[in-house]
Amino acid sequence: MFLTLRHLLSIMPIVLLSLAACAVNPATGERSFTGFMSEAQEIEVGQETHPKILAEFGGAYDNAALQRYVESIGELLASTTERPDIDFTFTVIDSPMINAFALPGGYVYVTRGLLALADNEAEVASVVGHEIGHVIARHSAQRYSRSVLAQIGAIGLGIATGSGELANLAGSGAAVYLQSFSRDQEFEADTLGIRYMARANFDPQAAADFLAKLQAHSQLEATLAGQPESTDKSNIMATHPRTVDRVQRAIENAGATQVTDPILARDIYLDQIDGMLYGEDPSQGVVRGRRFLHPDLRFAFEVPEGFTLRNNPNQVIAQGPGDTLIVFDLAPKPGSDSMLTYLTREWAGNMNFADAERIEIDGMEAATGSTRLRTQQGPRDVRLVAIRYDADTVYRFMFLTPPDLTEEQSLGLRETTYSFRRLSEAEAAAIEPLRVKIITVRPGDTVESLAEQMPFGDYREERFRVLNDLPEDAGLIPGQRVKIISG
Ligand SMILES: [Zn+2]
Repeated sequence: MFLTLRHLLSIMPIVLLSLAACAVNPATGERSFTGFMSEAQEIEVGQETHPKILAEFGGAYDNAALQRYVESIGELLASTTERPDIDFTFTVIDSPMINAFALPGGYVYVTRGLLALADNEAEVASVVGHEIGHVIARHSAQRYSRSVLAQIGAIGLGIATGSGELANLAGSGAAVYLQSFSRDQEFEADTLGIRYMARANFDPQAAADFLAKLQAHSQLEATLAGQPESTDKSNIMATHPRTVDRVQRAIENAGATQVTDPILARDIYLDQIDGMLYGEDPSQGVVRGRRFLHPDLRFAFEVPEGFTLRNNPNQVIAQGPGDTLIVFDLAPKPGSDSMLTYLTREWAGNMNFADAERIEIDGMEAATGSTRLRTQQGPRDVRLVAIRYDADTVYRFMFLTPPDLTEEQSLGLRETTYSFRRLSEAEAAAIEPLRVKIITVRPGDTVESLAEQMPFGDYREERFRVLNDLPEDAGLIPGQRVKIISG
């Protein structure tokens, strides 16, 4: 986290003024309304947006060999499409999120979080092929057009509440790329992706296998967050809503069941991801369970049970039950000395607080106040907290609760406020990056004994099984290669 929050709306170039295009798509054979973009505009939008996407999602992962490897998979698939003229750019994003997305004009991204979960080349090809499918069918162009409209809605929200911060929250740059496609678009992207996989001689079945694994992982994440279903809207399961059944149908639909001698390339793949970072890069702050710790900036806080923490480049967000939201960030250039003045005049000068007051958090001067706001999602009780960390640095919490949940949530959110504290040098130094390590099972190794080595507080065996695609009753065979996470 901690790039600036301010320029997110500038991600949107002005493409609204052009006339709608209607064209026959060579891959789908459909005459489709592609929103506001010509092909030339798609490429332009992609070129302009690419660097901003990198900034928003933590940049490209700094591993040239892995980048080249994923590029080679992507280029092989891209060479088989109906639009081989598109110059694709494939990037591994330095993010622990499990996601993949595409921009108009041929920019395709997969996160290192997703690569850690994949088990072979064919599974990665299924994800990359699917994103290529969205580009070829021009869904990303269509979505982009709709996103521009959504942005205008978000600006409207800002005007209604008089708060630029809330406008940023509602229409944050990341959110635009984390919107989901329609079921029809997903089916089409699957069908196309599987077609390209088969043409490139990958096993199409890997698409269904990997989706099942993504679902298992999503389920585990939900369990870890203490919720029956995943509420992580940044996960590929949310942005690309699919079911194994429908992917299976897409495999049949693509007529791609017959690939002789298909490529899986498991060993090659495992060699490529051996040593890859897992989870957050500590220099950006790390999520450990319900805690967020930042060894470089030297602070930590904890969110209540049932909340899922997500570390974004410019803010830390925790989603809780019933749309409860915690947003934590760094105040851009605070001018006021007093936190109460900062809160009431600078940060939220247009809001009316009934109860703004000075408080102290871990010996630091702080201020808090609450009010009710209208938002596009309905009325929300908003509590703001500003904390003077040092002469130049002010950290902020924003708690948003639907009014009927405010009372129930207030104790937990108050505990979060007062959990904010400084980290000692020793505590900061103890935070190590996690990495994927590939090991060969030796006689006597069990799921339990290998899982024990992983530096997680809980659910080690479940994590090990999901990471390695091992069903509940499956054991290990000596000589088999498996992934573990090491600290
Ligand atoms: Zn999709």
